Amino acid sequence: MILIAEIVSIGDEIALGKILDTNAQWISRQLTELGIRVLYHSTIGDDGVAMLDAFRLAASRADFVIITGGLGPTEDDLTRQTIAEMLKAPLVKDDELLQTIREMFVRRGQIMPESNEIQAYLPQGTQAIPNPHGTAPGIDATFSWFSSPAYFSFPTNFSAEQNDSRKSHQVRLFALPGVPAEMREMWFDTLQPRLAEQFSYGRAIKSRVIHTFGRGESQIEAMLPHLIRRDHDPRVGITASEGVITLRIVADRENESACNAALQPIANVIYERLGDLIFGENDETLQSVVVKELMRRNETLATVEFGTGGLLSYHLSLVSNAISSYRGGLANPSPDIQRNIFGRILFESENYEISDESQKREIIKIAAASRSFLGTDHVLIVGRYPVNRAADEASPVWLTHAYANGNETLTTTQSFPYGMHPAIIDSLFVKRALNLLRLFFLNNRLDSQRNASQ
Ligand code: ATP
Repeated sequence: MILIAEIVSIGDEIALGKILDTNAQWISRQLTELGIRVLYHSTIGDDGVAMLDAFRLAASRADFVIITGGLGPTEDDLTRQTIAEMLKAPLVKDDELLQTIREMFVRRGQIMPESNEIQAYLPQGTQAIPNPHGTAPGIDATFSWFSSPAYFSFPTNFSAEQNDSRKSHQVRLFALPGVPAEMREMWFDTLQPRLAEQFSYGRAIKSRVIHTFGRGESQIEAMLPHLIRRDHDPRVGITASEGVITLRIVADRENESACNAALQPIANVIYERLGDLIFGENDETLQSVVVKELMRRNETLATVEFGTGGLLSYHLSLVSNAISSYRGGLANPSPDIQRNIFGRILFESENYEISDESQKREIIKIAAASRSFLGTDHVLIVGRYPVNRAADEASPVWLTHAYANGNETLTTTQSFPYGMHPAIIDSLFVKRALNLLRLFFLNNRLDSQRNASQ
């Protein structure tokens, strides 16, 4: 059965738009990884009546309710009291919790203000979620909820039987502090193990996350028409982030090996259909895949960025152990620096216009010059962007890969029209450049395999 979650974010700061609700986004991702369907996000200001309404509604329509915020010691922090009211359970002081909170203040060289004592109170029948770096412990409550008929219809494809079973259902509610770092730590330290324990009663949930680059979300979806359906089992979800399209396969079975057996054939179909559009799984990124391959080949890379102002270099530098293969780069070199390094100037000034084709010819020459000057096996060059960005949306932006082949430098170039939303354009060109190199490595590998088998 599909388990449903609702995330409730508490606080005037969020409701009034002063801060962005990043907690809900982060928690949604964690729950999705666990195969729990997040169907609702609610945001409620610091108002006890509104909070009670929201908590009741969430309990009536979800199996898991995750609340963040409102656990502080001040008058407007009402989450604890409202949960107690909803459960019709008194707030009971937990002496051990009080001691932990006091000790936290002592470690900070402070005396605990009296108002913080409230944080040692829990609704009767609930357990605390320890908060190693804050004063507000969380609350973990499991209870049965009898829904009012007003909430019976579900905007999902539930069967009548499933709907019926929800009239009275068990709810697991977690309340966590709003401070993102504390909330995340408590999630990993306590919530995740407790959820795993709850699920391990006869079930296991496993997922496989496959990343692609080079096609849009709808194109990928069209290549896997039978997989990305809501009722497909295992479920295959699709998400897009700045050009990277990610497929997440989630299997819910009686044990781990049954999950793996269900995931593998689906992954096989995805690999078969999407081929070299797939660049990695789980935590892999285009830059980590490129660095890994450079290290495997024992080769080095430098970058020259006319368009992306150092973003490509930044991403490559963040990959662990990259230093042995990524040797650094140039960002926005001025004409005099270009002349010193390359012996010629490609982009002289903002007004320097050259035709698309001559730009390509020039960039190939500069690629060879920069490779021999920088002395690395590979050089990736991005840009430049058109001078008049608003007017030249269709102008090409050249991406160039130069690599040493014996004494000569070979180059591959690819161009994309500049036009794209300004918020993602740099990130997209960085990924396109990395993808150019990734595909070069892939084809190179295939060629050597072919040659070896001939
Ligand atoms: P504490 O007692 O530790 O302050 P709390 O549970 O009372 O925790 P809040 O006072 O609601 O939490 O929030 C503390 C801070 O955490 C806020 O000022 C805000 O910066 C951040 N915060 C709260 N909720 C969110 C959220 N949903 N997304 C991102 N940041 C948040």
